[in-house]
Amino acid sequence: MQQDNPDITFITPTAPVATATHGGRAKCLQRLVRLDLPVPSTVALSFDEVHRIAAGETPSMDELLAPLHQGTLICVRPSSEDPDWGGPGAVLNIGMNDAKFAELSEKLGHDAASAIYARFIQSYSTHVARLDPDMFDDLDLSAKDTCKQLLEAYELEAEEPFPQDVGDQLAGVLRSMARAWEGTTARLLRQAKGAPADAGLGLVVQEMVLGLGHAECGSGVLQLVNSTTGLPKITGRYLSQSQGRDALQTGASALFLEKDTRGPSLEDAAPEAFEALKQQAALMRVKLREEMQIEFTIENGQVYILDGVRVQRSSRAAVRIAVQLAQDGIIPAQEALMRIEPRALNELLHRQVDPEAERDVIGNGIAASPGAATGRIVFSAAEAQASAARSEACILVRRETTPEDIRGMHAASAVLTERGGITSHAAVIGRGLGLPCVVGASSLRFQLRKKSLLAPDGRVFKEGDIITIDGTDGEILAGEPKMLEAALDDAFQSLMAWADEERDLDIRANADTPADARTARNFNANGIGLCRTEHMFFEADRLTVMREMIFADASEDRRSALDKLLPMQREDFIELFRIMEGQPVCIRLFDPPLHEFLPTERAGMRDLAEALNLPLSTVTRRVEALGEYNPMLGMRGVRLGITVPEIYDMQARAIFEAAIMANRNGANVVPEIMIPLVSAKREVELVKTRVDAVAAAVRTEQGLDFDYRLGVMVETPRAALRAEDIAPHCHFFSFGTNDLTQMAYGLSRDDAGRFMSAYVQQGVYPEDPFHTLDADGVGELVKLGAERGRAAQPDLTLSVCGEHGGSPESIAFCRKVGMDYVSCSPFRVPVARLAAAQLAI
Ligand code: PEP
Ligand code: MG
Repeated sequence: MQQDNPDITFITPTAPVATATHGGRAKCLQRLVRLDLPVPSTVALSFDEVHRIAAGETPSMDELLAPLHQGTLICVRPSSEDPDWGGPGAVLNIGMNDAKFAELSEKLGHDAASAIYARFIQSYSTHVARLDPDMFDDLDLSAKDTCKQLLEAYELEAEEPFPQDVGDQLAGVLRSMARAWEGTTARLLRQAKGAPADAGLGLVVQEMVLGLGHAECGSGVLQLVNSTTGLPKITGRYLSQSQGRDALQTGASALFLEKDTRGPSLEDAAPEAFEALKQQAALMRVKLREEMQIEFTIENGQVYILDGVRVQRSSRAAVRIAVQLAQDGIIPAQEALMRIEPRALNELLHRQVDPEAERDVIGNGIAASPGAATGRIVFSAAEAQASAARSEACILVRRETTPEDIRGMHAASAVLTERGGITSHAAVIGRGLGLPCVVGASSLRFQLRKKSLLAPDGRVFKEGDIITIDGTDGEILAGEPKMLEAALDDAFQSLMAWADEERDLDIRANADTPADARTARNFNANGIGLCRTEHMFFEADRLTVMREMIFADASEDRRSALDKLLPMQREDFIELFRIMEGQPVCIRLFDPPLHEFLPTERAGMRDLAEALNLPLSTVTRRVEALGEYNPMLGMRGVRLGITVPEIYDMQARAIFEAAIMANRNGANVVPEIMIPLVSAKREVELVKTRVDAVAAAVRTEQGLDFDYRLGVMVETPRAALRAEDIAPHCHFFSFGTNDLTQMAYGLSRDDAGRFMSAYVQQGVYPEDPFHTLDADGVGELVKLGAERGRAAQPDLTLSVCGEHGGSPESIAFCRKVGMDYVSCSPFRVPVARLAAAQLAI
């Protein structure tokens, strides 16, 4: 056929068919044709053509049908640019009419012909004529005259006879599919999956191979890997005497493909066809450079390939597949790296409940997204965001989730819903985010107004109570069972090793505890970029000494309390240095306001009065005196370091003594000391003088030398603006983009959750700036700070250690402005490593 109409194109090896104009399915079919695979004749309709059809134009049926063999049945399938955007369902057996029914009855027998005709009448009635599907409910579809009954029912309801002309039928099918694509619901659904508003739909019109007949006939799907694990395994189903994807719907009567102890297989029923299919699938894998699922039909023992689609895959399988393709030399390693969405690694990285741990199960539901997480119950997205701002893990509990909950889901450690199934919003989004998720947990009573969950055994779990969601097994557990870290297989390790070869940005981890540091090491972080030392003071025994220090009236009393804390801090740092094996460790000096360490309730104050042997009234007065109207902008960070300098003295000493101990054991530790919340040069001068003095004292006492690096967190706008003054006193700047975002916007980290959804929904902010760095505003400050800092101090090491350090979009920004590294929470390190590699490719 000559190709003079690019919008109605007969697919040949050279026809002008492209994914961007005719859709992915049409393009894939052309590739299969090029491989000389047995693909039935196909005509591709372009996006433009389908758009015109939706608008009411009818293409020339003669032109459309000309390349296809006259008298064969045809099917129409959608062909969108990205198969994940969906599309209307395929319509099979177009061309079936009374005459064809008679012909097929003769050839295949009455029952087979009747099955085909009945199927077409029903599908045409509901999808094209838009008749009520219930209209066939009262018919006896097993009767000999099924088709007659269906045709009469159609005529009665549609008030016209069932169309007999193939052109009329095809035109009707094309129009209904084109219009279904342009409907509002379909558009919103695909936009939710990332499709642009004007995404087009192509259609492919294909000759049918019947899959019904006297010799071995049938249809099925086949792929060479397991979709969950990605490991090689011939998977799929085949159903004799069937069409389309019937084999998948009628699972029970379908055959296995390979010989299988559980039942009969295609390999037994039609060994030659099975062998041919395997070879064709292997050829497609090599030539299409992808694991494909093939849809095939066997007619009288002969195999036909109707379609090929990318194998659906879990994140774990995606990694295995990409790595295996690269290891087989089918794609380069760089392409394997580019094929994995960095965030998808989350799913591989998640923790699980230790199988040995005791499980106090309080309810169960559908295991919708793997991994397990523990946190406090919250019942709204806003509360989830507020918890995240406080760095508190939470479990978002909802009746069901909607797009408005997305921000809350981002902030939560896991999600639990009462309603919904494996494809519900919570499940789909949960899997996308790698967030453990259990849906449809109707064994629990969700008493949302009372903010509680009622377990079948009568126990009540309230807001703030700790539960664990096991998204792998679909169970909800009370409390915090022991967890196992994620198992990271060889494919993951290979991918990460390739990423490390490509990337030109270091990735460090924010790690406060030995457990965090071990995770960081396991994930091959290039060091610790932020150790928030205050987290080391919240353990019960230290808290009492800390409070003693806060309540001390005189400097000596304070020092004596700090002397008790010194060995504890030293041990903390020795342990971190040991785990990090010479990798850089950046320790931030004490940051939060002191009142965070004091009790807020009367009972707590009484306990404290008792512990410190003070009158309750004194304790109450002191606690009140330390209260602030706006603690985030009050006496915290370096301000505390300057007004109560003994704290930083103690910390500096602990760091230096720990470094000496570590170096005695052969390590070469050069600790990095970081001053938080700086906004003026003088602050750095004052702290530096004292830290240098402590270093000199420790050197003298121990008779040993050591190096250290001093730097600041740039997290106030003024520090960024005055970077030129500050940098000469520093070895490094680490941008604390959490506080910098808070201060640049004047937006409280703790309260923004309440209105963030409304703001993002109305387009005030394109994204929550605490998740994705606001490149225009906050980013401008970062850029200025970096430029001015480097201008004054060319060797200055630059980094970001706010939450943004783990977000792929923000990493791109950091690399662009010349950062040396980003630092993110340990579990985000692999995501960041892959994101950085993709940027360098
Ligand atoms: C920051 O402000 O970006 C930061 C990393 O410090 P913190 O979150 O501890 O305030
Ligand atoms: Mg900060």
